[in-house]
Amino acid sequence: MQPVAKDKLPDVGTTIFSVMSALATQSNAINLSQGFPDFEPPERLREALTERVNSGHNQYPPMHGVEALRTAIAQRFVMRYGTTLDPQTEITVTSGATEAIFCAITALCHPGDEVILFDPAYDCYAPAVRLAGAKPIHLPLTGHAFRIDFDQLEQALGKKTRLLILNSPHNPTATTISKAELDRLATVLASQDCFVLSDEVYDAMVFDGQRHTSVVAHPQLRERSVAVFSFGKTFHATGWKIGYAVAPPALTEQLRRIHQYNTFATAGPLQWAIADFMNAEPEFETTLADFYAAKRDHFAAAMHGSRFRLPVSTGTYFQLAEYSTISDQPDTQFARWLTTEIGVAAIPVSVFCQRPLEGRWVRFCFAKQDDTLSEAAGRLSAI
Ligand code: PMP
Ligand code: GLN
Repeated sequence: MQPVAKDKLPDVGTTIFSVMSALATQSNAINLSQGFPDFEPPERLREALTERVNSGHNQYPPMHGVEALRTAIAQRFVMRYGTTLDPQTEITVTSGATEAIFCAITALCHPGDEVILFDPAYDCYAPAVRLAGAKPIHLPLTGHAFRIDFDQLEQALGKKTRLLILNSPHNPTATTISKAELDRLATVLASQDCFVLSDEVYDAMVFDGQRHTSVVAHPQLRERSVAVFSFGKTFHATGWKIGYAVAPPALTEQLRRIHQYNTFATAGPLQWAIADFMNAEPEFETTLADFYAAKRDHFAAAMHGSRFRLPVSTGTYFQLAEYSTISDQPDTQFARWLTTEIGVAAIPVSVFCQRPLEGRWVRFCFAKQDDTLSEAAGRLSAI
């Protein structure tokens, strides 16, 4: 008998990031779709990796992460947020933020539970929720400013709600949650048996003198939250796939139970290299916000004469663009057309939403060299 695998996620295809990057390569287009830099990680970080690989750091690291890295992460939280974390019981190194997200959802959600997501929602949340047997409840971020509608949230919260997933700075809308909004969320959740998964992978990329508001630094939310971060973003190394989860000890223990049977541990030499780099250049990431704000401004200025409407990106390395004055094609078609005919690949935003969005949106990634951005903006402005 030939066994037939019963599909666990029958309605998902290949992720939009793989699809658009492949189309960009095939079409020889400038790839502003999938989010990754077209420049290298810092030299000292790359050297640290070579050194660690050549000096006997190639066997299994500890399940929850190399101690030197967890200690460096704890120091980062003191420096950035004035928050003290115990590296033994509150920090877990994972194979990218994606793994941390999967472990957190698997650990916290049981069959029948409900999980609140805000659309547009990053693509890996809902599949993990469904694999855990729980039900994603999609609430739209509202208006062109993409804010949480708290009245709608209060109505959606119920006895079954086990988890709420936040993402700030937000991919794909490039908005950031305010301290007042976090406070309101804390108030709304105070009477609920509900955890928070806070995806903060772009925490070092908040612009215009604003500060990132982390749930880790929020006294009420911290107690019920798992927050996830990614070195791929902070060190221009998306292919390294090293991230981490920060959570109170009881939640960390649950998360590690999944992590230890998922990957067991995360690539050791990469962890050592990151720890070395963080100790050698702790100020590196403090330059990131200005570095990326300059790229945002460069791209926005170069797009000034175009027919796209660009809301200000307040964080991440993404720029939304509204194109309804150019075309009434659905965004998936429009993004394909941009890639194959105009030579610039973008991500359609509707793929992150359950319900239709107000307006027609694509997302561009500006983690690119200035010349790349100028060339792309030139092509887009010629439409
Ligand atoms: N969350 C968001 C919002 C992201 O944009 C990404 C990746 N770009 C991730 C999680 C996954 O991070 P990682 O590559 O470290 O798995
Ligand atoms: N997070 C990246 C983006 O938003 C893509 C990551 C991936 O390809 N899975 O573009």
